[in-house]
Amino acid sequence: RHYCDSEKPRCAGCDELIFSNEYTQAEGQNWHLKHFCCFDCDCVLAGEIYVMVNDKPVCKPCYVKNYAVLCQGCHNAIDPEVQRVSYNSFHWHATPECFLCSCCNKCLIGQKFMPVEKMVFCSVECKKKMSS
Ligand SMILES: [Zn+2]
Ligand SMILES: [Zn+2]
Ligand SMILES: [Zn+2]
Ligand SMILES: [Zn+2]
Repeated sequence: RHYCDSEKPRCAGCDELIFSNEYTQAEGQNWHLKHFCCFDCDCVLAGEIYVMVNDKPVCKPCYVKNYAVLCQGCHNAIDPEVQRVSYNSFHWHATPECFLCSCCNKCLIGQKFMPVEKMVFCSVECKKKMSS
Protein backbone atom coordinates (compact mmCIF):
# COMPACT_ATOMS: atom_id res chain seq x y z
CA ARG A 1 0.00 0.00 0.00
CA HIS A 2 1.14 3.45 -0.80
CA TYR A 3 0.27 6.19 1.64
CA CYS A 4 0.44 9.55 0.04
CA ASP A 5 2.54 11.98 2.03
CA SER A 6 0.89 14.97 0.46
CA GLU A 7 -2.03 14.65 2.88
CA LYS A 8 0.26 15.91 5.61
CA PRO A 9 0.87 19.65 5.61
CA ARG A 10 4.34 20.79 4.68
CA CYS A 11 6.16 23.32 6.83
CA ALA A 12 7.05 26.47 4.91
CA GLY A 13 9.98 27.07 7.27
CA CYS A 14 11.97 23.82 7.04
CA ASP A 15 10.21 22.27 4.00
CA GLU A 16 9.52 19.01 5.93
CA LEU A 17 6.13 17.37 6.37
CA ILE A 18 4.38 18.12 9.65
CA PHE A 19 3.44 14.92 11.53
CA SER A 20 2.29 16.62 14.71
CA ASN A 21 -1.39 17.45 15.02
CA GLU A 22 -0.45 20.87 16.29
CA TYR A 23 0.89 23.34 13.81
CA THR A 24 0.45 26.96 12.86
CA GLN A 25 -1.33 28.29 9.82
CA ALA A 26 -0.10 31.74 8.96
CA GLU A 27 0.45 33.82 5.85
CA GLY A 28 -1.43 31.18 3.81
CA GLN A 29 1.06 28.46 4.71
CA ASN A 30 1.59 25.75 7.32
CA TRP A 31 4.39 25.76 9.85
CA HIS A 32 5.77 23.60 12.65
CA LEU A 33 4.96 25.47 15.85
CA LYS A 34 8.67 26.02 16.38
CA HIS A 35 9.26 27.20 12.84
CA PHE A 36 6.94 30.18 12.87
CA CYS A 37 8.97 32.36 15.17
CA CYS A 38 9.72 35.99 15.71
CA PHE A 39 12.54 36.95 13.37
CA ASP A 40 14.14 39.06 16.09
CA CYS A 41 13.80 37.12 19.37
CA ASP A 42 12.85 33.61 18.12
CA CYS A 43 9.78 33.35 20.34
CA VAL A 44 7.09 30.96 19.01
CA LEU A 45 4.31 33.00 17.42
CA ALA A 46 1.49 30.42 17.52
CA GLY A 47 -1.57 32.17 18.91
CA GLU A 48 0.32 35.45 19.38
CA ILE A 49 -0.12 38.77 17.69
CA TYR A 50 2.60 39.32 15.11
CA VAL A 51 3.38 41.81 12.38
CA MET A 52 4.97 41.13 9.01
CA VAL A 53 8.03 43.36 8.57
CA ASN A 54 9.76 42.99 5.19
CA ASP A 55 8.11 39.54 4.82
CA LYS A 56 9.46 38.38 8.21
CA PRO A 57 7.12 37.75 11.13
CA VAL A 58 7.97 39.76 14.24
CA CYS A 59 6.28 39.45 17.67
CA LYS A 60 4.46 42.45 19.00
CA PRO A 61 6.98 43.35 21.76
CA CYS A 62 9.83 43.28 19.22
CA TYR A 63 7.77 45.27 16.75
CA VAL A 64 7.06 47.99 19.29
CA LYS A 65 10.71 48.00 20.40
CA ASN A 66 12.40 47.87 16.98
CA TYR A 67 9.99 48.95 14.26
CA ALA A 68 7.06 50.87 15.64
CA VAL A 69 6.62 54.35 14.31
CA LEU A 70 6.21 57.24 16.71
CA CYS A 71 3.17 59.45 16.78
CA GLN A 72 4.02 63.08 16.03
CA GLY A 73 1.17 64.12 18.28
CA CYS A 74 1.88 62.32 21.56
CA HIS A 75 5.36 60.90 20.78
CA ASN A 76 4.34 57.38 21.82
CA ALA A 77 4.74 54.28 19.64
CA ILE A 78 1.77 53.48 17.42
CA ASP A 79 0.47 49.92 17.90
CA PRO A 80 0.41 47.91 14.67
CA GLU A 81 -3.31 47.13 15.13
CA VAL A 82 -4.57 50.64 15.63
CA GLN A 83 -5.62 53.17 13.01
CA ARG A 84 -3.06 55.73 12.06
CA VAL A 85 -2.67 58.68 9.74
CA SER A 86 0.53 58.79 7.69
CA TYR A 87 2.01 61.56 5.66
CA ASN A 88 5.48 61.10 4.12
CA SER A 89 7.55 59.69 7.00
CA PHE A 90 5.31 61.19 9.68
CA HIS A 91 2.60 59.30 11.50
CA TRP A 92 -0.13 60.08 13.97
CA HIS A 93 -2.61 58.04 16.00
CA ALA A 94 -5.93 58.47 14.23
CA THR A 95 -7.44 60.03 17.35
CA PRO A 96 -8.70 63.57 18.02
CA GLU A 97 -5.99 63.91 20.71
CA CYS A 98 -3.13 63.25 18.29
CA PHE A 99 -4.10 64.28 14.78
CA LEU A 100 -5.11 67.89 15.14
CA CYS A 101 -4.31 71.32 13.83
CA SER A 102 -1.04 72.57 15.33
CA CYS A 103 -2.58 76.02 15.68
CA CYS A 104 -6.24 75.74 16.74
CA ASN A 105 -6.34 72.07 17.87
CA LYS A 106 -9.20 71.22 15.55
CA CYS A 107 -9.41 67.45 14.92
CA LEU A 108 -8.24 66.72 11.37
CA ILE A 109 -9.32 63.09 10.97
CA GLY A 110 -11.18 62.81 7.68
CA GLN A 111 -10.58 66.52 7.04
CA LYS A 112 -8.43 68.32 4.53
CA PHE A 113 -5.12 69.27 6.09
CA MET A 114 -1.99 71.16 5.19
CA PRO A 115 1.21 69.53 6.39
CA VAL A 116 4.30 71.58 7.10
CA GLU A 117 7.10 69.25 8.18
CA LYS A 118 5.95 67.79 11.51
CA MET A 119 3.00 70.14 11.84
CA VAL A 120 -0.43 69.92 10.27
CA PHE A 121 -2.90 72.71 9.86
CA CYS A 122 -6.61 72.88 9.18
CA SER A 123 -6.44 75.96 6.99
CA VAL A 124 -4.22 78.52 5.32
CA GLU A 125 -5.13 80.93 8.13
CA CYS A 126 -3.78 78.59 10.82
CA LYS A 127 -0.66 77.92 8.81
CA LYS A 128 -0.02 81.65 8.42
CA LYS A 129 -0.54 82.30 12.13
CA MET A 130 2.12 79.78 13.10
CA SER A 131 4.68 80.87 10.52
CA SER A 132 4.38 84.60 11.12
ZN1 LIG B 1 9.35 23.18 10.08
ZN1 LIG C 1 10.24 38.93 19.18
ZN1 LIG D 1 -0.49 59.82 19.44
ZN1 LIG E 1 -6.47 75.29 12.70
